[in-house]
Amino acid sequence: MPHFAEAHIDLGAISGNVAALRARAPHAQAMGVVKADGYGHGMLPAARAMLDGGATWLGTALVEEALELRRAGITVPVVAWILPPSAPLSEAIAVGIDLGVSSLPVLDAVIAAAGAAGRTARVHLKADTGLGRGGIMPAEWPAATAAAARAEAAEQIEVIGVFSHFACSDEPGHPSIGAQIAAFHEALAQAEKAGLRPEVRHIANSAAALTLPESHFDLVRLGIASYGLSPIPGLPDTGLRPAMTLRSEIALVKRVPAGAGVSYGHRYTTDRPTSLALVPLGYADGVPRAATNKGPVLAAGRRRTIAGTVCMDQFMLDIGDDNARPGDHAVLFGPGDDGEATAQDWADVLDTIPYEIVTRIGARVPRGYT
Ligand code: PLP
Repeated sequence: MPHFAEAHIDLGAISGNVAALRARAPHAQAMGVVKADGYGHGMLPAARAMLDGGATWLGTALVEEALELRRAGITVPVVAWILPPSAPLSEAIAVGIDLGVSSLPVLDAVIAAAGAAGRTARVHLKADTGLGRGGIMPAEWPAATAAAARAEAAEQIEVIGVFSHFACSDEPGHPSIGAQIAAFHEALAQAEKAGLRPEVRHIANSAAALTLPESHFDLVRLGIASYGLSPIPGLPDTGLRPAMTLRSEIALVKRVPAGAGVSYGHRYTTDRPTSLALVPLGYADGVPRAATNKGPVLAAGRRRTIAGTVCMDQFMLDIGDDNARPGDHAVLFGPGDDGEATAQDWADVLDTIPYEIVTRIGARVPRGYT
């Protein structure tokens, strides 16, 4: 029997979003970013939908995620870019996973792992052009590119890519954007001077793919926008369609008098005799407790606000005198076609970003696909 309470994923929306984004970056290849279980959408189905939409690369944060893609039979290039000391580098190299190298010690670890695997490692050197997170700083870049060139000559590594990542591409006009692109050109020139000839140069994420053609280079890395959510709230004409709908069913309905305290802490009190509906999703499922008295939910024909505290497994809605029965729909967010809120609406009321809304949907919520 199909689950009614589920995060339903429209895979056609994901492939359509990737196709639409590719049309905006016609000279670049597209990488589908599927880390964090495909931003909560399910890594493998999301990856396949992205490939259907024209992505020719996949990206993950962790090597373990990339290995899972390989185990599922996915053969396209996959880049994993967070490599802590415990990362299974030799295993990754053995199955041809590309490794994003963010520091000289990581370069040394990858060279050592290539030796252990008996195979040349495919490497993307990451320059910190101003993000201030992972990436090799300009002062160390000449040494890193020289070391990479030596390792390449020794066939320990092959430098497939040089890449970077933006700090503020979601804030159009931010002065750091131009500075990062200039620094990236500088890093590329330096890499060339060291004798490196990377096949792909890449810095653009979704926001840059949508708004900064000068940042597209050879490859754009598409995360949030592939899932149909805009990295820049309110950006017009993106043509993106949200892929995830989070829905549940009303578990019980009951009448209560005026003045009834609702849920833990009585942070909501009824102001009239009314009906309360219980929805069996809670913070263990990724409905933030901060959505207490804030989260928008479509139920009994209208959009409501969660009444009182979000609990671990459930929350309440005040549906007034409207009719609802156990089994009726409650929709937290979706594409917005039927009056339901979007993940962006949830992000707005919770003062966060839609990335956090979709990635936190818990493992207990079944994913359903069409
Ligand atoms: N590239 C890197 C290195 C990332 O860490 C991420 C995600 O955070 C992305 C690309 C995709 O970003 P977005 O989801 O904004 O497209």
